[in-house]
Order: sequence, then structure tokens, then C-alpha cells
Amino acid sequence: MENGDIERAGRLILAGKYVVSLTGAGISVESGIRPFRGPGGLWTEYGEPPMNGYQRFLADPKASWERRVKREGYNRELHEGLRKAQPNPAHYALAELEELRVLRYLITQNIDNLHRVAGSKKIAEIHGNLSKLRCIQCNSRYEPEEISLETLPPRCPRCGGIIKGDTVMFGEPIPADVLEVCQEEVSKCDCMLLVGTSAFVYPAAGFPWQVKGKEGMLIEVNPYETELTPFCNISLRSKAGEVLPRLVECIKVKLQETGSPL
Ligand SMILES: [Zn+2]
Repeated sequence: MENGDIERAGRLILAGKYVVSLTGAGISVESGIRPFRGPGGLWTEYGEPPMNGYQRFLADPKASWERRVKREGYNRELHEGLRKAQPNPAHYALAELEELRVLRYLITQNIDNLHRVAGSKKIAEIHGNLSKLRCIQCNSRYEPEEISLETLPPRCPRCGGIIKGDTVMFGEPIPADVLEVCQEEVSKCDCMLLVGTSAFVYPAAGFPWQVKGKEGMLIEVNPYETELTPFCNISLRSKAGEVLPRLVECIKVKLQETGSPL
């Protein structure tokens, strides 16, 4: 990776009035978390979950919870992989960018909680968070230890609604509160930092196009070319864990030269 490219990316980011990052599976893979799709993917090995997973959950939440408690198949691997996974330098770099008030918001498609562990606070988890539970009626989120599993399915202490894992299932709408935050942040965004995502799953797939549509900047960090590459102002073709810390260092030097952003 040429320093010149990182320099250019740093300049674009600092020129942005409202920088938002969109992250995907690529950043988690660098923490040893197996992706769902593609070579080595959990779904490639175990098969894709049913496309009507949410409808099946609603039809029999008790049975779904019993399977969840037993943790069979890829669910077991997913949870065990997650328990061992730690944030990598890319997660920490994004948390530092937020602390520097350069990065205004982080939208992630990942469910692994690693951005939060690394310290990111302004974050929308489009597909939910594997370590949390959510009421399907009022969208309240809970830590697992807050909810008793004595009677299945567990019920929401606030409204009595059925509790499920916060992770969004196939067939399940993205929770309205998360989607609303994403729309608001993307509508303000004039520079989007795409990390480890090819953004082909909606709704995230629409976000870079929204930014591009109002002549915002797109910066991509990905070891592989994606369908978005031709539309990006800069593509840093490298692992996020290698390039993002260098980008943050570059931005910090520039901030010292020019004073803090805004
Ligand atoms: Zn509720």
C-alpha cells in the first residue's frame, strides 16, 4: 500500500463534513470470525438458513428457542467463534476515528459486537447483535442475563412481547429504529468509508449509492475488488487491520497541523 494513497484518503476524509463508515464481514474475518457466504463460509458448509426463518420463528417461537438453547449446527460454531474473537486493529482504528470526531457514525452489517468491544459508540447494527436479545413488539434490547429462560419463549419485561435474538433472521424486517438511524445518518453523510464490504445486501447496498447520488465521496478499504470499486474515489486494496491504523496516524498528523476538525 502506497503512502500516497493513504494520504489522499486522509485528505478526503478530513475534507468530508460528515463521515460515516459502513463495515461488513471483511473486517470480522480479520478477527478470525468465519463469514457466512463464500469460500470457508458457515452457510457454505452448513447450508443457508431457511429464507422464511422469521416466519418459522413466529409460527413456533418455543421450538425455535429450544433449538437456540441447544445451539445446534452453525449456531454453535457461530457462538463459539464469537466467544474467542477479539477486535483487530481495524476495529480500534474506527473507534479512534470516532473519538477524534472525524468519524460521525458507524453502520455495520456485522452481528459480532466487536465494534462495541473496541470502543465504538455511535453505531447502528443493521443485522442486530448476536450477544443481545430483542422484543419483537417494542424493540427493547436486553443482555441475555436480564431475561429468564425458565419459560420459553421468554417475554419482554416491558410489554410482554415475545423475545428473540437481536440478530435479524431471513424474512424478518430490519428493526424500524435501526433503519431510521441509518437513513438519517446516510442522509447527512458526504463521505463514506466502506470497510470489508461489497454492500450487495439491502438495505446497506443502497447507502453508498445514496452518498454517490449527491456527489459525496466513497473510500473503499478491501483486499478484493468489489462491485463498488469503479465508483469509489479511492480504493485502498489491503487488509483493513493493516491500512486503517496507518490512515488514522496520517489523519492525526494532519489534525495536528491544522487543528481539530470543525
Ligand atoms: Zn417489549
